[in-house]
Formats: sequence, C-alpha cells, structure tokens
Amino acid sequence: MSYTRLPFTIHKEARGSQARAATLQTLHGEVHTPIFMPVGTQATVKSQTVESLKATGTRVLLANTYHLLLRPGPEVFQRLGGIHRFMHWDGPVLTDSGGFQIFSLPHARAMNEDGAQFQSYVDGQSYLLSPESSIATQRAIGSDIMMVLDQCIPSTAAYAEAEAAMELTHRWAERSLRARGESPQALFGIVQGACHADLRKKSAAFVRALPFDGLAIGGLAVGETHRERYEMTALVTAELPSSLPRYLMGVGTPLDLLESVHRGVDMFDCIAPLQVAQRGLAFTAHGKLQLRRSVYKFAEERLDAQCECQTCQHYARAYLHHLIKAEEILGWHLVGVHNLTFYHRLMREMREHILHDTFLPYYEQQRTALLRTDAENPSQPPPRTKTRRSTCLGDYEVHRAPQGFASIRQRSSGEVMHSVNAPSEEANRLYIEQSGLSARLVTQRNLTDPLVIWDVGLGAAFNAMAAIQCFERCYAKSGDHSVRSLHIVSFECDLDPLTLALKHPSDFPHLRHAAPVSLLKNGTWVHALGLLHWQLCKGDFRECFSATHAPDVIFYDPFSFKTDSVLWTTDTFTRLFQHCTPKSTELYTYSASTAVRAALLSAGFFVAEGVGTGPKSTTTIAFTRAPEADAHPHAPRLLDQQWLARWRRSDMKFPPTLSAEARAHFASRIENHPQFCRST
Ligand SMILES: [Zn+2]
Repeated sequence: MSYTRLPFTIHKEARGSQARAATLQTLHGEVHTPIFMPVGTQATVKSQTVESLKATGTRVLLANTYHLLLRPGPEVFQRLGGIHRFMHWDGPVLTDSGGFQIFSLPHARAMNEDGAQFQSYVDGQSYLLSPESSIATQRAIGSDIMMVLDQCIPSTAAYAEAEAAMELTHRWAERSLRARGESPQALFGIVQGACHADLRKKSAAFVRALPFDGLAIGGLAVGETHRERYEMTALVTAELPSSLPRYLMGVGTPLDLLESVHRGVDMFDCIAPLQVAQRGLAFTAHGKLQLRRSVYKFAEERLDAQCECQTCQHYARAYLHHLIKAEEILGWHLVGVHNLTFYHRLMREMREHILHDTFLPYYEQQRTALLRTDAENPSQPPPRTKTRRSTCLGDYEVHRAPQGFASIRQRSSGEVMHSVNAPSEEANRLYIEQSGLSARLVTQRNLTDPLVIWDVGLGAAFNAMAAIQCFERCYAKSGDHSVRSLHIVSFECDLDPLTLALKHPSDFPHLRHAAPVSLLKNGTWVHALGLLHWQLCKGDFRECFSATHAPDVIFYDPFSFKTDSVLWTTDTFTRLFQHCTPKSTELYTYSASTAVRAALLSAGFFVAEGVGTGPKSTTTIAFTRAPEADAHPHAPRLLDQQWLARWRRSDMKFPPTLSAEARAHFASRIENHPQFCRST
C-alpha cells in the first residue's frame, strides 16, 4: 500500500449523533476538525490580511483554481514557490477544481468528455479545463488538498441530467487520480447526484472505491431547500467510510454547519461570513445583527460582549454602524474579523462538546439559538408572522418553488398551478407559441373581426398576460394599424389567486402591468388603442360560456381532473364542441391523459399531440375541424391507430359511473371518429 498523504485520526464520535472530532495531518501542519475554511478566491480572503486571519483562528484557506488559473496564472506560482510563499500563508490550503465556477458562472463555454472550453474574463483567451489541466494547475499552486474536477449542475436537476453529470464526474475522478501521479498533495473525490437518493448512493459507492485521501459532497447549496440539503448530507455521509475526512462544499450558514456536523461532516467552506460582513451583518451570541440599522447610531457597547475578537475588543457598534453606512473598507474588515471569529468559535465549541460527549444537548440548544435575529433590538414588526399571513388568501397561498419561481397553491387540494416548471415559461410554450399567436396577429391583420381567445382558468393570469405581452410585442414590432385586434375572455369562478398574486409583485413580475388591476376592479381592460380587449367572465365556466361568442383559440388550463373533474368530462366537452362548431376552434391544454383525450374524441373533437413542456413529454390539442397540418404552425400529429389500440387496452378507457349503454355509445363515438377512419 502506498503512503498516506493525509493521515486522519478520529478522537471521538458523539453519542446520538454522527458528529466526530478528528485530526488531519497536512503538509503544512495539523488541522482539528470539524473545521471551517474561509474562501480566498484570488489568493486573498476579501478585506483580510494573513495576520488578521490568523487572529480570528483561521487554520485552513480555500483558494479558487479557476480564478488563479486566469490570473496570475500557474507559471507565477511555479516561479515564486507556490501559493504559500506567494501570499505569505504558512498554513494548509485547499484548492477547488474550478468546476463550480465553470459550470455556474455565466460565460461562454463548450463542454465534452474531455473537459470544458471557456474564454477568460481577464483577456479573452481560450482555455480548456480538463481533469488533467485542473490537477496541473492545482499542483502548480501547491495546495495541500486538491479537488477532482466535477460537473456541477443545479441540485434540483432532473434525474437524467443528474445521472449523466454524475457518470461524467466519475470518469473525470479516475482521470484526476492518474493526473495527480506521485505528487505528495492530497486529492479528494466528489459525490454528485443532485437530490436523487439512489444516484447519491451510487456515486458514494463509486468514489469510496477509489484511492482518495478524503471525500466531498458536491452539488448542494445550489437551489435545494434546507430540508433536502440536510437529508442528502445524512444520506451520503452514511455511505462514506468513517476512515476518511468528509467535506461539504460551499456550505454554509452557522446553522448549516451545526446541522451538517451533526450529520457527520468534518470540513466546510463558504463565502457567507465575509459576504454578509460587507453589508453590515454580524453573527453574535444574541442572534444576527444588522449594523446598518439606525438603532446603532449612538450605540456605545461592543458588537458582542461574549466575543474575544479584535473588533469586539476595541470598537463600539456606533463606529461600525458609521463605517458600514459610509461603505468604508474598514467596516467590511472589522465585521469580517468578527464573523470569522464567530464561525471558528462555533467549530471549536462543537469539537469540545464532541470530545466531552455533550454534543447532543449542545446541538439542540444551538439549533434554536443560531436562528435568532437581534434579540436585544428586535426589528418591528415581527417579520415571520406578517409574511405568513399575507402569503395566504382564502383557499390559496403563494408557493415558492426551489427553482426560484412562484406560483399559487390551492390549500384544500394541495394542487399547485404549474407545479414543476416556471408558469410564465409554460404559458409561452404551451399556449402562446404553440397556437402561433404572433403569426395570427401579424399576418392576418387584414381580418376585421378580432381574434378571440378563451382563457379557461384565469388563476394568477399567467396565460392571459402572456397573450397580452405577445400582442404588445407584435404591436411594437409592426406599428400602428397592422396588428389584428384581439379579444381575450378569461373564465374564473374564484378571483382570490389573482388578488393574492397581485399583492406579491416581486414573486409575480408578469403582473406588473395595468391590465390585471383593471380586470379585477372593472371586469375588463382595454389597450390604449382599443385593439386589445380583455374581459372577465366570473362564475362557473359551464354556466358562462354559452353566452359568449365562439372563440378561435381556447387556453384550457383549469385545475386537474382530481380537483375540478366536471371540467374534463365528455358532457362539458360535448357542449363546448357544439357551441364552437361550425367555427374552426383550437383548444390547447396541458393534460395528456388518455381519459381526457378519449373524452374530447367522444365529444367530436379531432385530437392531436401537443408539444411537451417541462416534465411533460406531450400535451394535447383539440380541433373542431380536421386540421390542415400544413397550415398549422406546428404541424400537429393527430392521435393515430396506435393510440386507439392503447386506449382499447387502457384501464381508463371509460369515464367512471357510465351505464353499459352509455359506455357503448362512448366507445362507438371514438371507434367511428373520422380521425381514425381517415388514417386507415
Ligand atoms: Zn467579535
């Protein structure tokens, strides 16, 4: 067996917890874990000197390979004897692989099996970051611990994408080990797999089988909820050998550190303590404290009476308040000194409690303590209750997806409108683009009668607003009278979702427009030039629609069959079909279920497959007249004999509660539908 590059000794494992206290032996001395490593992106921890870092208790620094590769470049480190001499730091250094920056920062890159090709933001030069070039750069930098190149994806990535990224990361892990060669520098493997438990397990099993000196959990803290992060962390640490150090990359807040140590993690890095310091946020024994607040203008006391740091020894809150308000670098430096001291003290305390076997009660007590905000000077009014109340209205609440967009959830059914992909995206893809709306508005401008759209299920007005924005784009492009006029009729029985969404303009940016406010207030909105008319029909769609002129296009977007079953029945579709014929009407809907398609066919509609959106591979389009595929913007494919055969075998063949006679009628309507006769 080859020599150990990073001897790791566990001194104690906490009772009732996965937490452990250990010692790492690096090329630049001993490290006690759990450990927090400040981030020194450009071979400097922002606003700090090496001396101030040491005074805070910093023991290991993290440096970013990506930034150092571009500037000053590996040759500078080679000539000047590595990063330690270069930046006058004699403690251990860990370098990341550059993968995170390449895959998460917005710049042009092309990726293949070999690596990622990208352009330097410094001089525009083209670089290849491959497992080999990453290791070569990390060797030149001379870090104590190197990381393998991995493909980073959002933690919320879908299964197939996460699996492909994981497989690539595994192949790159093997190449990285070969590239390390005889270097005495330690090398860590990385477990990927996003938030998919079986991929995480598979990845852990793969990397633990390779001769790494430590193992990292990558791809967290990039989009998932705290709960998911903790769950994945626990799941992965359970799969890793206890004999190697475990590093959770890019995490986190003091609470994240506590929760993750409890779940068996030894090493952490995060930009948080210095990033928030720049804005005047300090972590204290009394909770988080915002120094910008004017309550500190005359405050003579120290930042944190229980802190031994240089800032707390010498400076009053009033002075820190002033520096932060004036955006002086010294304010960033001093609050940064305090925050790093706070982080390192937290890690030290955890270690002490693990060693004395008192970690569990300490953990329980800190779980609440670390959540506190400024206990001495609480800000008014208490923010938590206020936010909770106002995100609900009637049976609805604002639902914020981890991917960063908001939608509306019905509380009684739990159903989220557009649950998986961003609602505005779905509105555009499924309804606006697929119906060829802009082409209809521009190329059919000589038609004097308006194009009529029915918007069934107004909800938070994503679809109607997408149509209005499409109209406005067409109008802006083609000038005054060359756009066909448009009439949108929205059907909705409950206006609470729209009312609620309007109260949260930052969550629902599509509503920052005069139209929805006017629609709610007056039941109608007219575009300044009179070319666009939006009308609200409040009430049950089945009761209302027969009093309204037949439409050209229907955006059919009510709640699902489970919640709003009557809107998906043959009876409703038959009445709709009869109301629309002989006009040529197209109905677009997100549902692709066999039952819905069968109900549409039995009502007389011609039914075709619509485009996929988000996780749905297909959706549905229904026509009152057989469509001329060539004339339609998307040349939709009518359901064929294969679908018919599938329907015959389906256990959703008939709607529930039909009598035997009605079943026979339903089946014959489908079997004898001209759509299937034509295609045989
Ligand atoms: Zn302090």
